[in-house]
Amino acid sequence: MKTLKLFLATAVLSTASLGNAAINVFTCEPEWAALTREIGADRVRVSTAISADQDPHQVQARPSLISAVRQADLVFCNGAELEIGWLPVLLSRSANAKVQSAPGLLYAADQVTLIEQSSSADRAHGDVHAAGNPHVHLDPHRIAMVAKALTERLATLDPQGKAYYQQKLEDFLQRWQAAINKWESRASHLKDTKVVVHHRSFSYLLNWLGMHPIAEMEPKPGLPPTPKHLGQILGKVDKENIRLILFTSFNGNQGANWLAKRSGACTIQLPFSHEKSLFALYDELIDILVSKQADCL
Ligand SMILES: [Zn+2]
Repeated sequence: MKTLKLFLATAVLSTASLGNAAINVFTCEPEWAALTREIGADRVRVSTAISADQDPHQVQARPSLISAVRQADLVFCNGAELEIGWLPVLLSRSANAKVQSAPGLLYAADQVTLIEQSSSADRAHGDVHAAGNPHVHLDPHRIAMVAKALTERLATLDPQGKAYYQQKLEDFLQRWQAAINKWESRASHLKDTKVVVHHRSFSYLLNWLGMHPIAEMEPKPGLPPTPKHLGQILGKVDKENIRLILFTSFNGNQGANWLAKRSGACTIQLPFSHEKSLFALYDELIDILVSKQADCL
């Protein structure tokens, strides 16, 4: 009986805490939902536009997403034009005045410096990332910077929760730095490894780990691989003795398999995001890279 009472009390408490969430946050990608849950915890209710294995470059502006944006107090997305094909539609159709600009709209990429900025000429040739590489969630140090900006923004929108968010941030940063140290020591053998990538999805991750992307299977970011371009990469793979070819689920494995078959290099499918936890995402990334590299020497 005592156990049942305890169970009921816990159930009521958790319902109450959900009902008391001070802020409704709509995130575009699961990585930013995971970060929002770390910092906002019980004071936020979080929804996400896509799942971890969906391509954030290409999303349908479905009615359910428009409805979620309509109810949001904060829209937290990647930015740097990653969602240029769909977020503007969601924002305008939602007709939610609160989230059309700051403080109700927050972009992760605006909080950090971007690598791989290209010229307007590149844009004309189909480069979807002329503003710079948007995939900043794969650098843990940039994640920490975004976490600080998110904390400030939550406190602006919900001043009563300021001390709460600050405490959650400090707790997160402490665990995050300890995890970074662990990942860096596990990944030390990856330094100076040359790789081929499908898209520039992993540039920040590779920079952080001291690995070198030598070629991309896309002739320009956003354009599919062509036989001619793959043929040129094959020359590089052979010449520089590259052993690893990286891609993620929504790239498909065709290009990677084509190159692997002709070069003897290994293909590696890496996760691009995670439904629940940034810690789990990085654990998986490092585990897969370390074990595949060892298998593929
Ligand atoms: Zn991209």
